[in-house]
Amino acid sequence: MVKIALDAGHGGTDSGAVGNGLQEKNLTLNIVKKIGGLLAEYEGVSIIYTRTDDRFVELSERAAIANRADADFFLSVHINAGSGTGFESYVYNGNVSPSTIAYQNTIHSEIMKAIAGVQDRGKKRANYAVLRETKMPALLTENLFIDNANDAAKLKSEQFLLQVAHGHVEGIAKAFGLKRKATQQKQEEPKMPAPEKTAYDKAVDAAFEFLKQHGVVTQDRREEPVTRAQVFLMLHRLAQNMLQK
Ligand SMILES: [Zn+2]
Repeated sequence: MVKIALDAGHGGTDSGAVGNGLQEKNLTLNIVKKIGGLLAEYEGVSIIYTRTDDRFVELSERAAIANRADADFFLSVHINAGSGTGFESYVYNGNVSPSTIAYQNTIHSEIMKAIAGVQDRGKKRANYAVLRETKMPALLTENLFIDNANDAAKLKSEQFLLQVAHGHVEGIAKAFGLKRKATQQKQEEPKMPAPEKTAYDKAVDAAFEFLKQHGVVTQDRREEPVTRAQVFLMLHRLAQNMLQK
């Protein structure tokens, strides 16, 4: 089981960055929920959220939630501000495991693939509390600039936010070797080919059609026994019908 801790930046009284009618705390929660939903399509994943609604959670508590759950990976999602544009990701600028760097490389590049056209600001390192205090590999993503009109227009699109989430999930799946769950749909039963009809069957088919057309029989029932009386009646009907023509 791979335990992924998902951290939607800010919340409650802490709106995070604001701009162009958007609040960072709402965008981060939206993206994180999309990430969680997409991750649920993979086998052997359990997801821990630091928040699932609009509430304030201290930075240390966010890290503590992941530490208590003994998560394998911590992902914090943010929106940038400060007159720039594009995407960047962060790991702790102190001692980190080689796997932390590997995860950043993989996830960063999958996100850039998913949001082609967005400026890549690079893979960075910083002394952020959630990165410093988490005991497992941790990554923080800054997904475009809320105070940039072009970036904000993208952030207003649910489709774009889904692409952002998709990129994170592709990266996590690649980093942890996750496999998609088998589809719930039942596989269609392989159809047995119809058995080839023998010449005898075909002759019986033709005879039945002929007799039916001439009012001698109405039903096939080819495997049923017949009495001599029935044979007499059938032959009699046939003879009469033929004579009438
Ligand atoms: Zn933030």
